[in-house]
Amino acid sequence: PFITFEGGDGTGKSTHIARLAAHLRAAGHEVAVTREPGGSPGAEAIRELLVSGATERWSALAEALLVFAARADHLEKVINPARARGAVVLCDRFVDSTMAYQGAAGGLGEEKVRALRDLVVGADGPDLTIVLDAPGARGLERAQARGGDNRFEAKGEAYQARVQEAFRRIAAREPERCVVVDSSGPVDDVAHRIRTIVKERLGL
Ligand code: C5P
Repeated sequence: PFITFEGGDGTGKSTHIARLAAHLRAAGHEVAVTREPGGSPGAEAIRELLVSGATERWSALAEALLVFAARADHLEKVINPARARGAVVLCDRFVDSTMAYQGAAGGLGEEKVRALRDLVVGADGPDLTIVLDAPGARGLERAQARGGDNRFEAKGEAYQARVQEAFRRIAAREPERCVVVDSSGPVDDVAHRIRTIVKERLGL
C-alpha cells in the first residue's frame, strides 16, 4: 500500500506521518517513511537544487521536469521496491504537490503536470492521499516559526493561499483517492481521524 500526505507548508504532514507510522508499526506492519522532493540519494541531490534557490529563475516547466526526474528515481529505487515487498509506504508530498505548486501557483497549468504524471508515474500512484488543510494561513506562521529554510516558504501568504486552494480542488476531483483532513485541531484528534480513514479505506 502507498499513502501520500499533501498540503501546504506547516499543515502538520511530518507530524502525522510519524504518528501514523508508529501506529502501523505497533500493529505489525512494515512501514517505509519517505518524502518528496527527495527520498532516494539521487532525488535528494535534486531537492538541494530546488530548495537552494538555484532554480529560482527557471520556468515552472523546467522546475517541474526536475521534480519529476527526482520522482522517477524515487519511485524506481525506493517506493516501488518497498511496495513490492508488502511494506506500507508513507510519502510526504507527491504528484499533487507538483500540481499545486508548479501547476497552479506557479502557472504551468495542470494539463502539463498530468502529462508528466502519466509518463513518469503511470499506474504506480498512491492508493490513498491524505490532504491536510489548516484553514486560515496559520500553517505558514508555523512553518516560519519552526525556521522555514527555503525559498518556497518565503513566497508569502497569497502564494500559500493559492497552493492550499489548489489542494482542495485536486482532492474534490478525486474523492475515491483523496480525503481532506482539517489539521487545525488538537494533534491527537487529527491523528485519530487519520487512523480511522486508513482503516476504512485500506483495512490497515
Ligand atoms: O514539504 P517540504 O517543506 O519538505 O517541501 C520543500 C519545499 O518545496 C516546500 O516549501 C514546498 O513549498 C516546495 N515544493 C515545491 N514544489 C513541489 C514540492 C515542494 O515548490 N513539487
